[in-house]
Amino acid sequence: MNLESALLKYEPIIGIEIHAQLNTKSKAYCGDGNEFGAIPNTRTSPVSLGHPGTLPKFNKEIINHALKLGLALDCEITRWMHFDRKNYFYADLPKGYQITQDKTPICRKGQILIRLENNETKNIELTRIHMEEDSGKSIHDLDPFNTLIDLNRAGVPLLEIVTEPVIRTSKEAYEYVTEIRKLLRYLEICDGNMEEGSMRCDVNISIMPIGSEKFGDRVEVKNLNSIRNVQRSIDYEIVRQAKVLDGGEKVKVETRTFDAPSGKTSAMRKKEAAHDYRYFPEPDLNPIKIEENHLIDIKSKMPALPNELFKKFTENYGLSNYDALVIIEQKEIAQYFEQLVQFTTNFKTAANWVMVNIKSYLNQQAIEINSFPVSAEKMGLLIQMIDENLISNSLANQKLFPEMIKNPNEHPQSIAEKNDWISSDSEEELLSLVTKIIDENPSESERLKNGEKKLIGFFMGKIMKASNGTADPKKIAQILNKSLSQ
Ligand code: ADP
Ligand code: MG
Repeated sequence: MNLESALLKYEPIIGIEIHAQLNTKSKAYCGDGNEFGAIPNTRTSPVSLGHPGTLPKFNKEIINHALKLGLALDCEITRWMHFDRKNYFYADLPKGYQITQDKTPICRKGQILIRLENNETKNIELTRIHMEEDSGKSIHDLDPFNTLIDLNRAGVPLLEIVTEPVIRTSKEAYEYVTEIRKLLRYLEICDGNMEEGSMRCDVNISIMPIGSEKFGDRVEVKNLNSIRNVQRSIDYEIVRQAKVLDGGEKVKVETRTFDAPSGKTSAMRKKEAAHDYRYFPEPDLNPIKIEENHLIDIKSKMPALPNELFKKFTENYGLSNYDALVIIEQKEIAQYFEQLVQFTTNFKTAANWVMVNIKSYLNQQAIEINSFPVSAEKMGLLIQMIDENLISNSLANQKLFPEMIKNPNEHPQSIAEKNDWISSDSEEELLSLVTKIIDENPSESERLKNGEKKLIGFFMGKIMKASNGTADPKKIAQILNKSLSQ
């Protein structure tokens, strides 16, 4: 049984829960710093430690983060809500309960658009988004005999984003998580770093015979530390569950863990046999009311979102879907592009410079666009110079662009002038250059005329050299062909 044959017989149903750690300065209910990588147990006031008698004080910044996400995802915003206690016992949960939202999540419904192959799109519907707190971290692999506990993470604010069971393939799941992460980053509320655990996914998967209406029993897979592993774990589970059903058995409802090296999942614990969390309203925190003004204020501060930019880039700027997607992948790159097109209307060329030259420079240097030295204005001037035939495309790429990076404050035209890179591209000048080289090399030109095509390279080289590299190779080729056919 492989994935293909499993999918001939069974239809997968997938729902995803994403936990996003919010990048607030301090934790959800006390002033302890909220930062990744601090020395263990150094962000642990008595509130984080859950000492008896301590009281939580709610960090209002969390509401703004949640509202931004809710508005971006088109959710219904709950106007009057409270927190609930979810009671369970675990070593990394010193209070013995988690403060979360059970009955009144801050956001309900909503959806996000994902893009699939062949320009297909699909709306993934959400069930809810609620605010809660993270637990501490149990570290099992540092000490051979003991589990170590780091409570720095206890009380870090989270948003939990839950989808309806509407995802049907591992690819859709991949795209969904990718889009949510992009959105969290655009909104600047979570860094989306799955390796550091600031964004975590739990994937619920079941399968049912094709044509059936009744969902199968599901498992929940945890510990997915990359989007790729979300996809891999789903593909693995589909095959595993298909084998179980084909063997005449039932899929056990359980929580499983994914092992990245082997690509397999294994049972972690039975699904808390209707685990009783004894939810009740949190008595130590006041209910929260969202005023209309507050919502209007948040709305007015929303940045342009990836899907709006996609629409603008494809419809107003005429970029291909592919180009638009590459540019909006990262907010800062999209912003740079938006600045760049203030200085040129040659949108396609501008997109190419950003996607190819600038991005590969950033990759080489392992830096972000914010550290790219050349301003969008100077890049715009460069593109103008190419458009006005002041410099050939190849010289601009190979010589001027690197030189601009070294001298980001200098006007690109003055750099080009100093180095003698300005094109002598009037047709006349080029023609006389070409004629001169032909005359200087009579036997080669005779052979080229007689069909020895490889000599084109010989002439191109000589002419480029004579023009000091400034001539546009395309134009030379045209003129050369014309001259020789006469
Ligand atoms: P729990 O509280 O046990 O985590 P939820 O009702 O909150 O359960 O559902 C968690 C996730 O599981 C949701 O994303 C939901 O869409 C998904 N889900 C529910 N039923 C199924 C199913 N039969 N197969 C796959 N996913 C499911
Ligand atoms: Mg759950």
